[in-house]
Amino acid sequence: MKKQEQQEARTDVSEVAPNVLRMELPISMPGLGHVNCYAVIDDEGATLMDPGLPGPETQEVLSQRLAQAGLQETDVHTVIITHSHPDHFGCANWLADKGGARIVAYESFGWGVGLGPHDHDHEVSVDDLRAQSDATIPPRQDETPEERWQRRHERLTPWGGTPIGAGLEGRESKVAEMMSSGKFFPEISDPVTDGDVLKLGGREWFVRFTPGHTSDHFCLHSPELEILLSGDHVLPSITPHIAGTGAHADPLKLYMEALDKVAALDHVSRVLPAHGNPFDNLAERTEAIKRHHIERLDRTKEIGSELGTATVEAFSQKLFPERSWGMMAESETYAHLEHLRHAREAECHAGEDGKLRYVIR
Ligand SMILES: [Zn+2]
Repeated sequence: MKKQEQQEARTDVSEVAPNVLRMELPISMPGLGHVNCYAVIDDEGATLMDPGLPGPETQEVLSQRLAQAGLQETDVHTVIITHSHPDHFGCANWLADKGGARIVAYESFGWGVGLGPHDHDHEVSVDDLRAQSDATIPPRQDETPEERWQRRHERLTPWGGTPIGAGLEGRESKVAEMMSSGKFFPEISDPVTDGDVLKLGGREWFVRFTPGHTSDHFCLHSPELEILLSGDHVLPSITPHIAGTGAHADPLKLYMEALDKVAALDHVSRVLPAHGNPFDNLAERTEAIKRHHIERLDRTKEIGSELGTATVEAFSQKLFPERSWGMMAESETYAHLEHLRHAREAECHAGEDGKLRYVIR
């Protein structure tokens, strides 16, 4: 039985709140069957949130869905991108070209590749430098974001060994292909930060910074509609991937704090996630996701006592089933091990082969 996030995109457009439409767009990524693109309708046209993967296939489907709602691409005056993953920002440039849509994203938008001006605002201790190193790829002059993306993916991971882009050749080849095929990184015209207010469909929507899944993720909250557009921060039945390769030293800690942050919001009766169906039990869901990570941390410690000193790869192969082995599993394992290290429950040193080795205290 497929999880709801894995279901194929349905063609119908549904109104999930007054003047808020849900349009499912097809994606082919590990564990996901569709992405929800939400449209907020107003007198001037529409704001679209998370307009799918790049490329003509998605553009065609998006045009169809808009037509079902009586809209054209040129009616889209605003595109909002919850975070810098390709299934969320894909058609942003296309919509900007078509109808001059402004593009809204978090001020640090850029996949942890140092594209934003505020990537390094947070304090960095010497201890954190290794965790930071991946995010601090200095920009080269005349380099496009795509070239920097490529360069980042050829780098070795902060924990040594596998190149960051290694997972992309097989499972995500379609995405990788699109990435290398031209200009896909959106140009952000309207960077936002925590607490900013966007006026959409005549209502106020508050920007809530929720790093963890990526270091530039945010949610949008309308207290008036009692709705949280949660992006990938809180999903109804799967646990969002926590990338250990982003711009922050302890992304898991930030993620758990950001779960508490949205759970504590007043006036949320419905959550509209980027994958899967709307749900109303936000606090219950955030608790379940936190519990999952606490269990994973406990399991990581158990594995540490079995393995002694071991590489991230070795830990990940005990934590994940074989079909999941690879870059993403290692990245999430690294996030858990770094969390334990920051909590002084693990120690880490680099081996002569350049690979990090962790030991649980
Ligand atoms: Zn996603």
